[in-house]
Amino acid sequence: MKSILYTGAKQVEFGEKAEPEIGPGEVLIKVAYAGVCGSDMIIYQGIHPRAKAPLVMGHEFSGTIVKGHGSLPPGTPVTVYPLLSCGHCQPCRNGYAHVCDTLRLIGIDCDGGMAEYVKVPEDKIVPIPEGFSLKLGAFIEPVAVGVHAVSRSRYRPGDTAVVYGAGPIGLCVAGCLACFGAARVIVIEANPHRLEVARQMGFATIDAARDDLRAKVRAYTRGRNADLAFDCAAHPSVQASILDILRVQGTGIVVGSYKRPAEVDLIQIEFKELTLVGIRVYEWRDFETAVAILQSGRVDFERLLSVAAPEDAPRQFGELLSGDTDAIKLLFQLG
Ligand SMILES: [Zn+2]
Ligand SMILES: [Zn+2]
Repeated sequence: MKSILYTGAKQVEFGEKAEPEIGPGEVLIKVAYAGVCGSDMIIYQGIHPRAKAPLVMGHEFSGTIVKGHGSLPPGTPVTVYPLLSCGHCQPCRNGYAHVCDTLRLIGIDCDGGMAEYVKVPEDKIVPIPEGFSLKLGAFIEPVAVGVHAVSRSRYRPGDTAVVYGAGPIGLCVAGCLACFGAARVIVIEANPHRLEVARQMGFATIDAARDDLRAKVRAYTRGRNADLAFDCAAHPSVQASILDILRVQGTGIVVGSYKRPAEVDLIQIEFKELTLVGIRVYEWRDFETAVAILQSGRVDFERLLSVAAPEDAPRQFGELLSGDTDAIKLLFQLG
């Protein structure tokens, strides 16, 4: 089968690989689209703590069932809940399997969706509703991250929220907030193209490269500051303003993954009675909500998707790393 293979630091190859053979409890999927995630870029750079070459990356994908499912017939359109939890550690036993002590992912710890075929455990299959496009099907996972972030944020209808970063996750968080009835969503971004996309999606925007961020948030909120601030940039510059732009008893939510510890001003947390919340991936119900949000069509998430041929993977990964691309979420079309 055709596959995109990570073979070592800054190396991906497009080529032939043996088709996976399924065992008991496994389902074979013919892949339609597979998205490139920030964590795939960490793997590509050769600095992911767990991923080992050779590896077929891809944990955000859609496709159709080929064989192996007990109740869903061949041809059923599906996506996959990619988390592999141990089932017996303390978090798993207490309902927090998504923060399992030894959490693994399809496409990071074993072969994933950037190939013609992928095998997955049967209990990870998420059927896609009738009439739902397979292209959007590959975007259910990032939207589920947005759903999970808003769910854990103490968000209340009518809140005003600031979102740092207009990458796929920032725009998913912003889109979910809009669907859930936020009064105003303010997106902060330095990249002009991404800023323009955020504006066209109906969000208020702040240009991180030019604007006085604090003054703009105050202007947008008539001096009240934000109820919530989502850090989807995980950039060291965020820490300089995130606590300033929150109102008294506001909440900051850390969605992005920091690579090294950031400084936090605990005095402000005390003085303004702020709350800081952390987010990791998603839970099952977030996938279900993400499907409903995408199905509603209330936010035009499709405009975030760019499609590339798998043969083009070596060049596409290079461009994603250098930032020399307008793609926000790049999908490889595998079928
Ligand atoms: Zn992802
Ligand atoms: Zn566990």
